[in-house]
Amino acid sequence: MKIDVLTIFPEMFNPVTTDSMLGRAVRNGILDIRLTNIRDYTSDKHNKTDDYTFGGGGGMVMMPDPIFTALRHIGAEGKKVLYMSPRGKILDEQKVRELAGLDEFVILCGHYEGVDQRVLDYWNAEEVSIGDYVLTGGELPAMVLIDSVARFVPGVLGNKDSVTDESVYSGLLEYPHYTQPREYEGLQVPDVLLSGNHKKIDLWRFRESLIITKERRPDLFRKFIGDRGNLSKDEKKILDELLNQE
Ligand code: SAM
Repeated sequence: MKIDVLTIFPEMFNPVTTDSMLGRAVRNGILDIRLTNIRDYTSDKHNKTDDYTFGGGGGMVMMPDPIFTALRHIGAEGKKVLYMSPRGKILDEQKVRELAGLDEFVILCGHYEGVDQRVLDYWNAEEVSIGDYVLTGGELPAMVLIDSVARFVPGVLGNKDSVTDESVYSGLLEYPHYTQPREYEGLQVPDVLLSGNHKKIDLWRFRESLIITKERRPDLFRKFIGDRGNLSKDEKKILDELLNQE
């Protein structure tokens, strides 16, 4: 998968493109993350990328010309262009999977008050938010998007189950995890996890997932019980018990 990122701070992406699983995917040629510094496409001697907003009010706006020139230089015509923006639709699992199905796309990172609207209109940019809060720039949101999408690209993670087992993907939030030691500061690992009985363990995990999801994300829980057709007899029993407790 090829991802072009347009930014005025390309160096911010270094840890993401060199460390951990994404770094390995880049080295293995599974991910091709190309960073383009918008400042390299300015035409004045001060490499200016922003100017005052028309109509008054505080704040600077990123000018269209350096961004248009950079987009043309990377060959963005006809490609999906995303603009990280708090005005966008909030990134969710569905959008992540949709993007993971693409061979390539472009991400534009804004700063200051954002980019000139004509950039978004001309390049038909899709605005994507990572949440209802405002950051100083689009780089961190772009990294969140890249990381979440990359996990779905075959070969990026060690094994495919790692994606499908996770919270949200399965329709439920994940059950609790424990590791060594078996007892820590008087706190025990639940006996069932040490029992070696995998069926019991799976059902315990399923029950924990249901409880956590019901408590923390009633929206996901309602959706999950709406399509419970795929559940085993034992799982249905656990779910019914939980629903009867209401
Ligand atoms: N004036 C903009 C507004 O009110 O919608 C906010 C601009 S913000 C200070 C600067 C840049 O950070 C934005 O252009 C965008 O690229 C990025 N940004 C900030 N918050 C974001 C969020 N929640 N999701 C995605 N990008 C965000």
